[in-house]
Amino acid sequence: MPRIRWAERCSARSTATLRPCTAWAIRGGAVCVAHGGGSPQARREAGRRLAEQAAQRMVARALDRWHRRTVVWQVRRVAVAAEMLGIAPERVGWAEIVWCHTVYGVPPLDDEAPRASDVRLPGRTARVLGGPAWRA
Ligand SMILES: [Zn+2]
Repeated sequence: MPRIRWAERCSARSTATLRPCTAWAIRGGAVCVAHGGGSPQARREAGRRLAEQAAQRMVARALDRWHRRTVVWQVRRVAVAAEMLGIAPERVGWAEIVWCHTVYGVPPLDDEAPRASDVRLPGRTARVLGGPAWRA
């Protein structure tokens, strides 16, 4: 995945000319260093914003992995039931899957579907999102 570049212009205006500042804003921030982007508050807020965006991207990717895993799981279930019953996959429904599961032990039932919580998040995000506040 390519690195996402922060390319925002400073949102400040010159008090003398009233023209917008043309400098780049600090990464994660709205203003350049000359317009307050270098202050501790601005840096802290920019860091928080960047971390939040990174966490959102990681969660979105994890949900995407979970979704793909679930689709593959469902397709395999239907294929297994269709093969066992000797019918077309289009004719496999909930009842066929339950019947095959009851008789042969496969395919798995709905409650064995991949869970979103099984999808691994990168360490830092997992620690933040998996903490006590999130679990409550
Ligand atoms: Zn500026």
